[in-house]
Amino acid sequence: MVFLFNDISKQAEQIEYLCRLFLIKMIAKEIQLAVNKGEMLPLMEEFYTIQGEGFHTGTAAYFIRIGGCDVGCHWCDVKESWSADLHPPTATDLIVENASKYADTIVITGGEPLTWDMTLLTQKLKAKNLRVHIETSGAYDVTGTWDWFCLSPKKNKLPMQTAYNIAHELKVIIYNKHDFQFAEEQAAKVNPNAILFLQPEWSKKEEMTPLIVDYVMNNPKWRVSLQTHKYLNIP
Ligand code: SF4
Repeated sequence: MVFLFNDISKQAEQIEYLCRLFLIKMIAKEIQLAVNKGEMLPLMEEFYTIQGEGFHTGTAAYFIRIGGCDVGCHWCDVKESWSADLHPPTATDLIVENASKYADTIVITGGEPLTWDMTLLTQKLKAKNLRVHIETSGAYDVTGTWDWFCLSPKKNKLPMQTAYNIAHELKVIIYNKHDFQFAEEQAAKVNPNAILFLQPEWSKKEEMTPLIVDYVMNNPKWRVSLQTHKYLNIP
């Protein structure tokens, strides 16, 4: 009889374990579906700060950094964003609720935010009368509605044509001298209204900034962009 009782108790444990496993798998599948639809997004961090780069330099904005990027720039300063799995899937409603407490301008960055469907997030932000900006490599289909589209093309994965067509700003990172040629190639592809910026890659700023200054003086269609938030020591 003791044997029988042990068997039954063991079987009950196994059934409970299988039920839990099934439930966990179901929940994971539901979350993945929600992420695919943009109802949830892998949120890496969010913070209220000053936009440090490009056209809106010096203006207050709330940044939402979405995890996930497979562009693979070797000089990337947010490599911890690359794996989406490291960042908790977060309901867009919650992201919007947090963002709306702080600023009128919201900057969506990454990672590569266009890895994900941005339609719902931007709809919900705009429904709260917020201005919505994006910083993107443009490597994936454009989703979402943007008040400001900052295109920062990367050699590893060139932008989609739509990104060139709608960009308000083209920001090319200068890591070495060859990047000036890349910048001109990208400027030739972007729409004629886009404002053109050259920005030194942070680790190369001593070497590249003087070259950018000379380049902009000789080619005044370009402007200089610096990572001023890093000089200010703010996020
Ligand atoms: S696209 Fe941006 S986040 Fe992705 S690797 Fe390049 S710099 Fe990093």
